[in-house]
Amino acid sequence: MEQTQVQLAVQGRITPVMEEIAVKEGVSVQVIRENFARGRIVCPRNINRPCRNVGIGMGLSTKINASIGTSTDINNIDFEVAKARAAQEAGADTLMELSVGGDLDKVRREVLAAVDLPVGNVPLYQAFCEAIKKYGDPNKLDSQMLFDIIEKQCADGISFMAVHCGINLYTIERLEKQGYRYGGLVSKGGASMVAWMKANKRENPLYAEFDRVVEILRKYDVVLSLGNGLRAGSIADSFDRAMVQELLINCELAELGRKMGCQMMVEGPGHVPMDEIEANIILQKRMSNYAPYYMLGPLPTDIGAGYDHVAAAIGAAQSARFGADLICYITPAEHLALPNVQDVVEGVKVARLSAHIGDMGKLPEKTRMRDIAMSRARRDMDWEKQFANALFPEDARRIRDERSPTCDEKVCTMCGEFCANRASGKLFNEALNAGRKG
Ligand code: SF4
Repeated sequence: MEQTQVQLAVQGRITPVMEEIAVKEGVSVQVIRENFARGRIVCPRNINRPCRNVGIGMGLSTKINASIGTSTDINNIDFEVAKARAAQEAGADTLMELSVGGDLDKVRREVLAAVDLPVGNVPLYQAFCEAIKKYGDPNKLDSQMLFDIIEKQCADGISFMAVHCGINLYTIERLEKQGYRYGGLVSKGGASMVAWMKANKRENPLYAEFDRVVEILRKYDVVLSLGNGLRAGSIADSFDRAMVQELLINCELAELGRKMGCQMMVEGPGHVPMDEIEANIILQKRMSNYAPYYMLGPLPTDIGAGYDHVAAAIGAAQSARFGADLICYITPAEHLALPNVQDVVEGVKVARLSAHIGDMGKLPEKTRMRDIAMSRARRDMDWEKQFANALFPEDARRIRDERSPTCDEKVCTMCGEFCANRASGKLFNEALNAGRKG
């Protein structure tokens, strides 16, 4: 059996995956190897499907995930393939295929074939869908069926899996003892698993048989992302005892899974107010021994519907700055409808922007040069250099071209004849030419 990146790193071996990540990120390969060995960096991959090597974790730039997938109302495979391709083109680093409607095997395989990004998923979705199809009741799901689905999805080439191992009977007890929540339960997989455990009066098989989950994912070198099934769907619930309990268990499991040789990541919330984001990240990092943290934004307000992608970008910039390693985008359709292609593109772009802003705080040495180059290009009114340094050059060029100046092609139509850069440039040309200011 092929060894995982963690196992190889622990043996002191440097792999081509580690070398590629080191070059892309500008980090010494020895540091990359050491962080793989300590469970602080992962690379979502699968021995059955070649895909891009994307490093996620300590000392690396913050990565962006785009989630797509059918619903029970809208299940068009071509639509999902188009969204997957649009997400890749817009600059997503990873993709999650989260279908719950239609032929789930077919949509997964077509999406996997359409992109070369690492693709993740949530196996509980298909498991509960199949239990409904077979028995007419999701609570009749049996653990053999669940583990067979996990194995099938790994064999198909999934690179990272959000598995809800951290919900156990003790977590549910915390939820019940604190009373119900303002925002209820918002994770589809989490809510379904809580219902299953209560109906069957049994422990979550993903927790009770955690070693079996690890064994399957380890076989394919897939990243086990510990799902946040009790994440808050309201900022008022952001630090409740049930959420903290699940996070604590997930952090414990992250360490256990890594010791068993599996690549591990922990999933975070959700809805978190701005002043609590830093504390959330410190808690996860300290309790998991700095395992990579995958934040779903977070959304720092509950009232941004229609512009939740912007609200999430504000939360994401904050979470990236404090150490989140992978950010799941939010689209303008969040809380309202299944996203379309345009929503996906918007979501990826604002998430990339938020990750860059966060990285300017997290990795200032590596990330600020492009902003400085842009400032110079603006001062000098060098439009081609501005487009070259912009995160979204096509959008920037299109907006300028649609409203181009008539008085002087160097300025723009914002101030026209009153262009401050042109006026001040004339005043300070001498200093610039003498090289006193770069
Ligand atoms: S016109 Fe105004 S906005 Fe446009 S380049 Fe000059 S100073 Fe900047």
